[in-house]
Amino acid sequence: MKTASARIAANKRQDFIKEYGVVPISELHRFFIKKKGVLMTKEEVLKKYFGYDSFRAGQETLVNGILSGRDTLGIMPTGAGKSLCYQIPALLMPGITLVISPLISLMKDQVTALNQAGIHAAYLNSSLTQGQYQTALRNLIQGRYKIVYVAPERLLTESFLWAASQIEISMVSVDEAHCISQWGQDFRPSYRKITEFVARLPRRPVLSAFTATATAEVQADILTQLELRDPVKVMTGFNRPNLYFAVQQPKRKQPVLTALVEARRDRSGIVYCATRSGVEKICDLLCQRGIPATRYHAGLSEEERQRNQDDFQFDRKTVMVATNAFGMGIDKSNVSFVIHYNMPKSLEAYYQEAGRAGRDGEAAECILLYGPGDVATAQFFLQQAGENEDLSPEERAEVQARDARRLEAMVNYCKTTHCLRGHLLDYFGQAHDPTCGNCGNCRSQFVQVDITRQAQMILSCVKRVQGKLGYYVGADLL
Ligand code: ADP
Ligand code: MG
Repeated sequence: MKTASARIAANKRQDFIKEYGVVPISELHRFFIKKKGVLMTKEEVLKKYFGYDSFRAGQETLVNGILSGRDTLGIMPTGAGKSLCYQIPALLMPGITLVISPLISLMKDQVTALNQAGIHAAYLNSSLTQGQYQTALRNLIQGRYKIVYVAPERLLTESFLWAASQIEISMVSVDEAHCISQWGQDFRPSYRKITEFVARLPRRPVLSAFTATATAEVQADILTQLELRDPVKVMTGFNRPNLYFAVQQPKRKQPVLTALVEARRDRSGIVYCATRSGVEKICDLLCQRGIPATRYHAGLSEEERQRNQDDFQFDRKTVMVATNAFGMGIDKSNVSFVIHYNMPKSLEAYYQEAGRAGRDGEAAECILLYGPGDVATAQFFLQQAGENEDLSPEERAEVQARDARRLEAMVNYCKTTHCLRGHLLDYFGQAHDPTCGNCGNCRSQFVQVDITRQAQMILSCVKRVQGKLGYYVGADLL
């Protein structure tokens, strides 16, 4: 005999089907239930939908945390496999999972991959026409999707709020969660809408957040901004022992760069430049030297970017010369070197870009060519980025102060004579041995010389020249 609640549930189901003409999501969920009414295990989902035999470090703890109904925070380096940490529980929980993600291109790639794997997923962002958006919303409330990627700007729109109130949301998962922190390198004010959105839901879902870049400060900010409740926290090691780190400060960068790339001719690598014109110049230079190089930056057409990215991905071209526009969502495992022709604006950015080397676990090199001019370029970009954001004057001042501190930490990395790996791990708050034996500094010997007197003489010369002329002159003239 049916219990009262089962009868009510059955009636509700009939109403639902009558209204929408489809079965509710809780039944779509059956999809993941095996014959005898038993849910698939997370291992079975991992194997069946993603094709992997075992979880990587940290993944299982995060999946378990979510499945037990706890909020979670996963901090793992790029490429560690954060997506599976929310995708697998999304499939095993009864309702729908919303994933907040900052980049349209990333959403698209992930949704395509999920659908190919036989998982019903969609995205809602500004790349859809009004008609497509309405269709997707309708499908959403009809329970046709298990995982839906949403741009943060959409969350508080009337139509989305209404749709969200009509469905059962099991989890809201925040990818690239550092975007919520104005201390982070990619602050997106629209991420602040997430908390209000969650508060307006009829029932609070599980919240999970993931990021690759989190200093202690940003971590704490993610916890407070998202109002995570007693979360399961997993931070996997940031150390990448197979990466060799080095900084060089050549007088002229071009010949040094060509020599570095020529010595690595048969290997796949990325050369990062700060500007689009830098990319053009360096790519031409390498091509003239007979190196199969291609280029990527935001000034190229969509088709050319795609073509060049594919050429690199499939090893038709071995070297990619690019601005920082290249790399998010790129999954190429055999990159054996990443050379920075210019210094990035922060260690977060540097570690993320350099970290694209050696994903296959083979020895790989991360070399940074530092020049004092890079500091001015970085400052220029920081200034520009600040102008485009929708911030109050106080917020802006605060963001600028943080940016300046981050830049300083980056410059310190370029100048330190101590272990470079240690410097990076310190920055990310991770304990380490005093030396690593696998970085430019651990492998060189430094001799300390007292040059106080020479420095004083140079400074006094600067001062006197300025006094005589009434203005400062450059180092060359001096
Ligand atoms: P992240 O978001 O942490 O940068 P992704 O989620 O994009 O990383 O995953 C990076 C790559 O690792 C993807 O190709 C993914 O399929 C793969 N991957 C994830 N988990 C596993 C696993 N358990 N075993 C093997 N490969 C995995
Ligand atoms: Mg990711």
